[in-house]
Amino acid sequence: MTTSFELEQRFCAHNYDPLPVTLIRGEGIWLYDVRGRRLLDMMSAYSAVSFGHSHPRLLAALTEQAGRLALVSRAFDHDRLGPFAARLCTMTRMDKMLPMNTGAEAVETAIKAARKWGYQVKSIAPGRAKIIVCENNFHGRTTTIVGFSSHAQYRAGFDPFDGGFIRIPFGDIEALRAAITPEVAAFLVEPLQGEGGIVTPPAGYLAQAARLCRAQNVLLLADEVQTGLGRTGELLACWHDDVQPDGLMLGKALGGGLLPVSAFLARADLMAVFTPGDHGSTFGGNALACRVGETALELLESEGLCARATRIGQYLYDKLAALNTPEFIEIRGRGLMRGIVLDPQAWDARAFCEALLDKGVLTNSTHGNVVRLSPPLIIDAQAIDRAVTAIAEVLGRVVN
Ligand code: PMP
Repeated sequence: MTTSFELEQRFCAHNYDPLPVTLIRGEGIWLYDVRGRRLLDMMSAYSAVSFGHSHPRLLAALTEQAGRLALVSRAFDHDRLGPFAARLCTMTRMDKMLPMNTGAEAVETAIKAARKWGYQVKSIAPGRAKIIVCENNFHGRTTTIVGFSSHAQYRAGFDPFDGGFIRIPFGDIEALRAAITPEVAAFLVEPLQGEGGIVTPPAGYLAQAARLCRAQNVLLLADEVQTGLGRTGELLACWHDDVQPDGLMLGKALGGGLLPVSAFLARADLMAVFTPGDHGSTFGGNALACRVGETALELLESEGLCARATRIGQYLYDKLAALNTPEFIEIRGRGLMRGIVLDPQAWDARAFCEALLDKGVLTNSTHGNVVRLSPPLIIDAQAIDRAVTAIAEVLGRVVN
């Protein structure tokens, strides 16, 4: 019989190189494969499955709403959008939200908002608005976004790009200061770089950047598609530095691990640049997405997942540090968004992940020879012990 994997190989574009596992079911922190194996999910779909797989409250909300009203388009109002928007804005302390679906769309929305604000409010000359971005960024895969990536493969063969971006080193406040000119509308930044290798900037960087942007009338746009919604231990990673961004992108976990749900949030005066017809999405803000998103936000609060990410994240860090191995160059990140930088002499991160899979732990690698550890936020200490034991076994260690 032809396997699903063989069918995939035959009919799908090869834009991914998945680990050799075919999953059929998920429940909480566990995934099950066609071979009957139970695997610990230490990756949670790039931080999108914060509540674990098939969370009963999310499933109940999804199925109830699906049977009532799912999609009417934004051509009409529906009864789930307002409550979702209100909860999202209140929790994130932003004035307004614009619903989209994927993270990349939220970023595209931010770029459009910033440019239009640049012309309308900051009076930048037509066609001249610039947005400052960081080296090693990851903001998605659209042509505009890959156009300002510093990762050669993301760009190669996909040009021409539309320009208007200035790239500076991440974490370097002087570089930001030097890059700001009267034509700069915004600074777009991940508070902690995810796909770039779980890279934390120097302490105080974000606060300094926020002050600088404010002083120069430059918008601070925080891409929290990955870091947001409790992943790093605060609802927004910006809040570790007491920073409230002017524009905010959320996605991934906002969909409760069930649907693509994203949003661009902003100060009222920034969001005011959008008028009917300027921007939109057929599925953005659909009733099903809003209901799931609202339930995800409720769960974040009722299950205390921010505090849990801090506590269990520290536990994970301590356990990894206790392995005390020279094969780890560094253990990085915050909360439950962690990365182990492997010594390239000893390990290739992809090979490490394959070895972990054999030990029943699922995760993947990021740039910079980094093994990503970003489990569902509902994970407990016992499961962390299991993951760390598997890591120790891969390293050939005995843990006590
Ligand atoms: N921004 C960041 C910070 C991300 O990590 C990602 C996805 N890894 C995106 C944007 C893009 O999200 P999506 O894949 O949903 O378009």
